[in-house]
Amino acid sequence: MTDQSRMRSIRTPALILKRRDFGEADRLLTILTPFQGKLDVIAKGARKLTSSKTGHVELYTRADMLIHRGRDLGICVQAEMTAPFLPLRENLNRGAHASYCAELLDRLTAEGETDAGALFKLMDDTFIRLSLEDDLRLTVRFFELRLLDLVGFRPELLNCVVEHEPLLPEDQFFDNASGGVVCPRHALRGTALVPLSMDGLKLLRHLQRSTWKQIESLKVPPQIHEEAERVMLGYITHLVERRLQSVDFIRRVRDLA
Ligand SMILES: [Zn+2]
Repeated sequence: MTDQSRMRSIRTPALILKRRDFGEADRLLTILTPFQGKLDVIAKGARKLTSSKTGHVELYTRADMLIHRGRDLGICVQAEMTAPFLPLRENLNRGAHASYCAELLDRLTAEGETDAGALFKLMDDTFIRLSLEDDLRLTVRFFELRLLDLVGFRPELLNCVVEHEPLLPEDQFFDNASGGVVCPRHALRGTALVPLSMDGLKLLRHLQRSTWKQIESLKVPPQIHEEAERVMLGYITHLVERRLQSVDFIRRVRDLA
């Protein structure tokens, strides 16, 4: 069998999450596809001005790609942009929010998980919303909660994580380590708990259980937005660090073997 026959070609929609220079003329892309999951592919000649077949590999766009998959990296041999999401590159603030969402998805997912249809739809919808919506924070919080559902880190917002009793309508705390709300009676002093007001919790619950249609016109007071952002960023930072540590750990074990 030759190398050629072992190669497999796929044509797929792809969202471009990350892009680095690779060698003299190529680019290494991290893309998200609905049926092959997240992949790293090389876009040959993508940095040459004259390159036409893979010329449209801008960040935070959707493209139809033809990819040759070898044993190692895939090679993108054709890319045709199907959604440019222009505001994400023309507006610094929108671009920064898109960059955060793309990086978060990248960090919380593994490569090659094939059943990624829901993830793909979420990322695509989020790029659309970040291009159009006024309240970018609402868009990002909604994205975070959906993403955490899909990757298995759904925060517990209905019951206290200590004894699982239903929460009373009062101010609570959030515990990053156990991934949920702790009631004031179980909140031990000296532990790293984050205060979460009743209104802040209401917003997060609403976002967690609703569709985008149900929340898109929600008007959120700035201080509630700030609180929800603080709590979510704290939890997500905790998850990403834990994940990085476990990846690090796996690498060290592999080096020993
Ligand atoms: Zn409790």
